[in-house]
Amino acid sequence: MAMMEIEKEMDVQDSHILARQRTKEREILLDYDYKKCAGCSICVALCPKKALQEGPLQEIAKGLDAPPVLIDLDACAFCGMCVNFCPTKAFRMTVAEIAAKENKEAVHASDAEAQA
Ligand code: SF4
Ligand code: SF4
Repeated sequence: MAMMEIEKEMDVQDSHILARQRTKEREILLDYDYKKCAGCSICVALCPKKALQEGPLQEIAKGLDAPPVLIDLDACAFCGMCVNFCPTKAFRMTVAEIAAKENKEAVHASDAEAQA
């Protein structure tokens, strides 16, 4: 019997850092828009996997264009805590179920906020 495969990948689009986790059943997208991020570090403190770290906050305060939070994709469990607690909604999460038989991407894109 094959092990359940989990693929992860990271992508950058403009100010969005897109982390994806894919299994046969579903794809979870964690979208961090660093332009919305206030650098408060709440998410860094509460991430249960310690997958988040502060970026170069002092340089950012002086005008450097860089994300205030760095994501460790390997460590992230896609639990959605950062999404639920970020005061500026810089993190969003969507889940796409992949229908088992047809292998079609379905319907169901839910905002993790809705589960809060
Ligand atoms: S909680 Fe939100 S605003 Fe605060 S550092 Fe994390 S992503 Fe940025
Ligand atoms: S989804 Fe969960 S594990 Fe991943 S960065 Fe956010 S709080 Fe941490």
